[in-house]
Amino acid sequence: MDGSRTASAGLLGVNSLEVRKTSLASAGDTPFGITREQRPRLAILAQKGSRVFSRFGKGEASAHGGGTLLLCPTSAGNATALREYFAWLEPRPLGVGTSAGLGNRLGLATPGHVRAVRAAGGNVAPIFAQQSIREMERTGRTPRQVMDDATWGMFTEGWRDGFGADADHLKTPADVDACVAAGYTFFTFDPGDHVDDAAEKADATDLRAMLDRLPWDLLEDTRQDLFARYAGTRFDLEGRDLALDEAVVARAAAKYGRAVAHAATLYRHLEKVMGVRPFEVEVSVDETASPTTHAQHLYIANELARLGVRWASLAPHYVGRFEKGVDYIGDVARFEEDFALHAAIAWRVGPYKLSLHSGSDKFSIYPAAVRQTRGLVHLKTAGTSYLEALRTVAALDADLFTEIYAFAVERYEEDRASYHVSANLEKAAAPEGIDDRDLSALLDRFDEREILHVTFGSVLKREDLHDRLLNVLAAHPEDYAQNLEKHFLKHLEPFAAARTDENGGSE
Ligand SMILES: [Zn+2]
Repeated sequence: MDGSRTASAGLLGVNSLEVRKTSLASAGDTPFGITREQRPRLAILAQKGSRVFSRFGKGEASAHGGGTLLLCPTSAGNATALREYFAWLEPRPLGVGTSAGLGNRLGLATPGHVRAVRAAGGNVAPIFAQQSIREMERTGRTPRQVMDDATWGMFTEGWRDGFGADADHLKTPADVDACVAAGYTFFTFDPGDHVDDAAEKADATDLRAMLDRLPWDLLEDTRQDLFARYAGTRFDLEGRDLALDEAVVARAAAKYGRAVAHAATLYRHLEKVMGVRPFEVEVSVDETASPTTHAQHLYIANELARLGVRWASLAPHYVGRFEKGVDYIGDVARFEEDFALHAAIAWRVGPYKLSLHSGSDKFSIYPAAVRQTRGLVHLKTAGTSYLEALRTVAALDADLFTEIYAFAVERYEEDRASYHVSANLEKAAAPEGIDDRDLSALLDRFDEREILHVTFGSVLKREDLHDRLLNVLAAHPEDYAQNLEKHFLKHLEPFAAARTDENGGSE
């Protein structure tokens, strides 16, 4: 261990103060740590005249030895100061190697996430701060709070090996601004509202009309140039011949042209506001009605590149169903066959990663995803950290869990609207009849799992449930961390085995 850890051990000598050993760190000869309390605080042992007195606020100060012991709240201001002192708490771009996003809707999941990443062996680059604008609204959190929660979680566990911060599903320049201001480094653009799924079934006349309405100025293109560019192009992908004839290009442009233009607009805006700061971008069209064909993927990638967009990962809409919090629904062999060509395109046009959105619990397709991308893959998970919080509650406070479940059942029909789920209330256990001894088993059943998953926003908006839930987790951080570690290790293991073949390619 470095000298700074030795210096930081000074904090352990303070009587009546319990500090988490994993959190010990020091800046120069000033030790820092996180206390073991229901509401953990930042402990700093400062020498006379130290700069920390002016940097860390609202602390409780007491004399200790020749110095002063400061106990400061885990506030936004102190999180900012902490990131200034410890550069490893600043997010950074991750590049195209295997990575995983671990969303944290309650703000308390990062310690468990860190442990899972460590247990998986360090081959997967983590994103510890990740939340979509939609989920921030539902959980009443700001981009900065999401970042700060990751900061405290990483500091508590002593994670110093780098991480990314994903501002997920951004739709507007204002979304971009809010996340840039909070220090994010990974920006997921979601131009899904501009995808026209009607193009899939449109006839030639309709397609022509749809093309007329495309924002050609934003695309810096004309219809003639578009067809001329693709005329006669063929791609040999893994021995399969993919021809981009006029009909195919017209359909791809009608479906995705407006989305490409919107992604380029967001990109230009991001470039401008980031200035010289490094960043990376993902483009996602996963939340749309129809799968992205290989020709459409090629169109999207070629056109984004032509417009000067640089991206680290792309999330097409794959075949099959990616429902929240449950395994892949569909034919796994067919998925792999289809996915193989998406991966070949990503290697050929990029290389860039393919991103698996709604990636939690898709255990049956992980091996295929790793195999076909040869490690150029990003796994995005979010909501199951909440389900693991409920598992923790099920074991510690049966009454609270039962109340949450009953409320979830009540809310499900309304809350499911903005998610891809198919759980059926008729098939789920009736709240009044559930057995206290078997609560956590409910979390492993398809219908109950989805019902609990998509109602989190309603549960968290009910102040009584929100506060009790957070209190249970805060009082039992080890229980929650252990459940998360176990759950995410299962996710990360198949990916940790991947070795990116940097010299590879689709040839
Ligand atoms: Zn998504």
